[in-house]
Amino acid sequence: MVDNNTIMKEGICIECGNRERDGLSCYEQFGFPLVWEHNDPKLYALHFWLVSCYMIQHPSNYTEEGYKLLVNLFIDAYDNDWDTPYILKKNREIIKSVTKITNPISSKERNRELKHWSMTIGDIYLGGEQNAIVNINKWKVQIRNELKV
Ligand SMILES: [Zn+2]
Repeated sequence: MVDNNTIMKEGICIECGNRERDGLSCYEQFGFPLVWEHNDPKLYALHFWLVSCYMIQHPSNYTEEGYKLLVNLFIDAYDNDWDTPYILKKNREIIKSVTKITNPISSKERNRELKHWSMTIGDIYLGGEQNAIVNINKWKVQIRNELKV
């Protein structure tokens, strides 16, 4: 089982600042576009971007080294406009190159630091299935700007 639920405190994700919506935690909201993408190949084509945007805003899922690699992959893929098969190939190479990418500490005991982002998974959830493609593309641009590397 993947242990990567989010911690909500007073209705706010303590890591990305997203709000609880319809009683759903940040992680539960992330589950929605993951279902929608199975109905739409064009949305599914953005799978890497959806997952990496979400994960970049939840660094506690990773070791420090794993997180840096994820951010670098995101930036390289974005700046060089890599296509999906190439991104996935690079991603596999990265996974092979490091021993620990995911944080071995259980979700409840992890350190989490709040960082403010102009867009979170909450915007994807609220925008709904019809706007998911537009919103994920917007999210990816915002995150790239906010990473400022
Ligand atoms: Zn969150």
